Amino acid sequence: MLASTKTVDLFEVIANKENRVKRQQEWLKSHSLPLISFSINMPGPEKNNALTDVIFRQGMHAIRNTCASYGWTIVNRQIHRANTGAEAIMVVETDDVNALKIAMMRIEHTHAMGRLMDIDVLAVSGEIISRDNQGFGKRQCYICDDEAVVCARSQRHDLPTLLQKIEEIVNNA
Ligand SMILES: [Zn+2]
Repeated sequence: MLASTKTVDLFEVIANKENRVKRQQEWLKSHSLPLISFSINMPGPEKNNALTDVIFRQGMHAIRNTCASYGWTIVNRQIHRANTGAEAIMVVETDDVNALKIAMMRIEHTHAMGRLMDIDVLAVSGEIISRDNQGFGKRQCYICDDEAVVCARSQRHDLPTLLQKIEEIVNNA
């Protein structure tokens, strides 16, 4: 079962998001290369547990392997372990930011735990590359296959249901 850890509140989430954006901007400026920003899609107030550890490790592994297979060097990376969940930013040497986005979306869509991963790609300009027009469609909810953002916004599924499903996905991966 899940070992209980510290929980997080909305203020921490907002503060963390602001810090993340600041770090991203600094790195874009200092490297002039695209960034990958990886975090875990974990509902509820508890953002770190045995499951998120597994998802994070697997995600880092998949991102590294994928970049290596395309010949894109990760020239710098930073792992940030906060109360709000583990995150990583990686600076990637590539001149094709759309190809990078597509490769990361492929992980989200094909990796056994991909639905639990959020892998954003930022262009040197700071623009977050959109999922649209990349041929993958909207992200689906892992409970009902409806559009994930719709279920999240309406809180269609209760937390125990979501956590049970996440445990199932990780254990079956
Ligand atoms: Zn749903």
